[in-house]
Amino acid sequence: MAKEALRKLSKYRSKRNFTVTDEPSGENEVATSDHLRFVIQKHAARRLHYDLRLELGGVFKSWAVTKGPSPDPRDKRLSVEVEDHPLDYGDFEGTIPKGEYGGGTVQLWDRGVWAPLPGVVASAALKSGQLKFLLAGERLKGEWVLVRLKRDRNARQRANWLLIKHRDRYARDDGDRLLKSDRSVASGRRMAQIAAGKGARPTPFMTKRATRASNRPKIGARARGAGERRSDRKSAPPKFVAPQLARLVERAPSQP
Ligand code: MN
Repeated sequence: MAKEALRKLSKYRSKRNFTVTDEPSGENEVATSDHLRFVIQKHAARRLHYDLRLELGGVFKSWAVTKGPSPDPRDKRLSVEVEDHPLDYGDFEGTIPKGEYGGGTVQLWDRGVWAPLPGVVASAALKSGQLKFLLAGERLKGEWVLVRLKRDRNARQRANWLLIKHRDRYARDDGDRLLKSDRSVASGRRMAQIAAGKGARPTPFMTKRATRASNRPKIGARARGAGERRSDRKSAPPKFVAPQLARLVERAPSQP
């Protein structure tokens, strides 16, 4: 991991005990991508919420959208800024043990690519408190905006933002209908299946190999043996690689 990302993730890492939770510590190798990626994780913690994560600067900028995103432009969804998350978190689906930070079941609810709107510099826009962007996910599409609310004077609390859909052809007036979809975009599993540790593993999106999709809490602080770590043995390059020809499509692919 780059030094810069490591620094940004110190808060993320300090909140978690990786011998107990199956959440990635940020050390899985992440696939490169021509586009910035995003994920939304449905998270049944103390309160159900949806975590929006936008790839930027080698980490995921993250917000907990308390009622979930709405494709209805009339809905303004409170989004609490949370700590930056590692990019391999974008493949995490499973259950964080009870009593741990964020304890509860996590489902990969949406994923795809995102981009700031033309002329918008994402880092500057976030700093100024208004980011207009485009989502090309499996469930969420089109133009959105994140607007930061003014902080209270007693500012120890986390920054609150509003997530709002712009009016475009992807706007809908049945805001919460989409939230009724309870199938993981990565494994097809429902929350209950994930919680029970049943069904398919999520297909990888961020990482080169699928990360573990375990739902079992780890027992004690058992360290993973060196023999269990797969080595990255380099094989000889192929003799011939067929060229990949361009094909006109409506939008950028959501897969690497
Ligand atoms: Mn969460």
